[in-house]
Amino acid sequence: MRLTWNPKWINPFESTWSIVEKIKYANAITSRELVREFGTKDYKGNLTNQRYGLLRLNGIDLEHLSLSTGTDFSNHINYYFNKMVGMLTHLNPNFLLRKEFTFCEDCLAVGYHSILHQFIFVQKCPHHLTELKNTCKICGSSSSCETQNHKRREAFECVCSNFYVDPKFNSFFEWQVNLPISDRVIKDWISMDSKTYNHISETYFYLPSLKNLNDPLQFLLNFGKGIY
Ligand SMILES: [Zn+2]
Ligand SMILES: [Zn+2]
Repeated sequence: MRLTWNPKWINPFESTWSIVEKIKYANAITSRELVREFGTKDYKGNLTNQRYGLLRLNGIDLEHLSLSTGTDFSNHINYYFNKMVGMLTHLNPNFLLRKEFTFCEDCLAVGYHSILHQFIFVQKCPHHLTELKNTCKICGSSSSCETQNHKRREAFECVCSNFYVDPKFNSFFEWQVNLPISDRVIKDWISMDSKTYNHISETYFYLPSLKNLNDPLQFLLNFGKGIY
């Protein structure tokens, strides 16, 4: 299957959820059709386990998808994942991500969802500083980021077949957005120097204690820079 795709439609920190929705939208296919074509299968032909699938594209045949789109998604995924949580070496990255699909309405309106929205230490949209949402405003349900949805779900839609947010984009060209990061701490976090990065990555942090802090990222940055 040859897919309509342009690598320029991917923005910094764009989540694989967002990329998958764009692929569905640009090609007018549903989740079910996408998974049938690109889902990895075991020797019996059954779709394999896709645990933590939505944010890492586990359970999707990346090589097949790359060939069909002319884009290597694994570079993008690994690069931004490492920039966000790579320095937290001793913490299980799966515990650092919210299991429920969490989004900013302003970002989603322009077709963008960031992995930063899923990061448990990020409480507001780093771009718009607005409150993050995790439920559909129409049906009130929340979506899991654990697995690819096998239902006949159309792009950017909740299970109730309504858009999470009404799209403001009129064409694919508008998917290349240039959203600056407004949150100062997040800006410092994703641009920390290698010395700070290494200092943090060499240290063991206890997750429940970090979660109890008022601003875990600021604490970690201060620690990494040697400011106590
Ligand atoms: Zn936003
Ligand atoms: Zn809904």
